[in-house]
Amino acid sequence: MSVSDPAATVRCMTSTMTQMRVRVHRGCHEVGGTCVEVESGGARLILDVGRPLTAGADDYVDLPKVPGLADGSDPGLLGVLISHGHLDHYGLIDQVHPSIPVYAGRSAAAIVEAARFFSPRGPALLPTGHLVDGQVFTLGPFAVTPHLVDHSAFDAYAFVVEAGGRRLMYTGDLSIRRSGHKTWQSPGRQSATSRAGSSTTPTQASTRWTEPGRRSRTSS
Ligand SMILES: [Zn+2]
Repeated sequence: MSVSDPAATVRCMTSTMTQMRVRVHRGCHEVGGTCVEVESGGARLILDVGRPLTAGADDYVDLPKVPGLADGSDPGLLGVLISHGHLDHYGLIDQVHPSIPVYAGRSAAAIVEAARFFSPRGPALLPTGHLVDGQVFTLGPFAVTPHLVDHSAFDAYAFVVEAGGRRLMYTGDLSIRRSGHKTWQSPGRQSATSRAGSSTTPTQASTRWTEPGRRSRTSS
């Protein structure tokens, strides 16, 4: 592409602006400690900020190195979505800068708050917005659909995140019961899961970006 070709420059910029990319910071090579960063057009979302299960009760664990997450310095960081109230998914939330919006289930947050009386080591989970099953909400270029899932933590969600013509499904934790009970079912959910070809669940922790729907650059 020649930089003197305005049309080519626009096409390049459009491609860069509209794609959706994913970075898995934690939670692939271990159980829990989950943190996934999603980016589109310069805007970013964080899916979970979990405390690794391998950390001792008194161990200090740094946040993953997500720009702006700890100091609120990046207005492009639009929010943190907490899938459910287990420490390995929200346990570092007290290190997230208070200017960054946090979204979690209303009941999940209430349970965490009540449980702090018995387990004061866990941080408070005080969301600025509540997740509602099947109710789409937008954050910048992202359309987020929370889907209630079956898990040992009440009010747990998977997320479908859409931006730039891409779709990412983030399952969080979910349980598959042997009784035949379906993990989830609704017309919206069927739609979300039926487009597996244009979505992906990240499979490898990396500091590099991966585009949903394309082969991971780090998996070869
Ligand atoms: Zn869990």
